[in-house]
Amino acid sequence: MSTLTISGLRAAVGGSEILTGVDLEISSGEVHAVMGPNGAGKSTLSHVIMGKPGYEVLGGSVVLDGTDVLSLPTWQRAQAGLFLAMQYPTEVPGVSLVDALSASRADGLGSDDELKASLRVEAERIGFDAKLLDRPLNVDLSGGEKKRNETVQLAVLKPRFAVLDELDSGLDVDALRAVARRVEAATEDDGLGVLVITHYSRLLTELRPDHVHVLAQGRIVASGGPELADQLEAGGYGQYVERSNLDVDATIGASDPFADPFADPLA
Ligand code: ADP
Ligand code: MG
Repeated sequence: MSTLTISGLRAAVGGSEILTGVDLEISSGEVHAVMGPNGAGKSTLSHVIMGKPGYEVLGGSVVLDGTDVLSLPTWQRAQAGLFLAMQYPTEVPGVSLVDALSASRADGLGSDDELKASLRVEAERIGFDAKLLDRPLNVDLSGGEKKRNETVQLAVLKPRFAVLDELDSGLDVDALRAVARRVEAATEDDGLGVLVITHYSRLLTELRPDHVHVLAQGRIVASGGPELADQLEAGGYGQYVERSNLDVDATIGASDPFADPFADPLA
């Protein structure tokens, strides 16, 4: 049983504070969905967890079973058991998938031939054309193929926790179902803990979340069960954006947010 604990995480990119205090705790086998409007900081959260250069941590912690991962370089975070499926997977000409995975030196990958065999099994399981496994990493793959490629890597590497940043974007309905089912199976078979970032609840019909959180203005403003995803799909994020705006106003001591903005200030 592993636990990933994010506490009071604050981070800046490009000189602006984007994460303003994120708290989340994920245990093995759990699926936590993070939903939120464009620009809320969802991808920033995924990048800060994994240590992408250019992001400045201003406060708080990310702890994996007692290890402070923020003090580790990205490759050590991966070896500690973290995995990120990127919203926009990077093309790496000249590096094959097999080379990239064997360089990760994760436990249990076996020889290159065994690794190739497990890649083929996993590719078939989610309907990813095995011919594409021989391409340089992500090069000339369509958006949906890149997302399936990320899923194949996740299945073979068997991390302890996976952050899936809009894994559903670019996938057709069949691919979406196959990918979501594969990740759901990993939560059951391998105890994978998942932080799944998405705009849409359709991913969550197959990859069933235990908890759903709303990220707005850089922090979690609401949490609930799977029903929250359906409410968000039906009602949008407006109420949460407003609520956190009000909170921000309150902290800077603004006047009553419900007051008539056209009232005569001297009256
Ligand atoms: P989300 O994934 O929730 O849509 P992001 O985390 O990608 O949002 O972005 C959050 C905010 O941070 C946005 O306003 C975005 O423009 C800003 N941002 C992201 N990366 C950079 C960067 N490298 N430089 C400046 N601003 C950035
Ligand atoms: Mg994003």
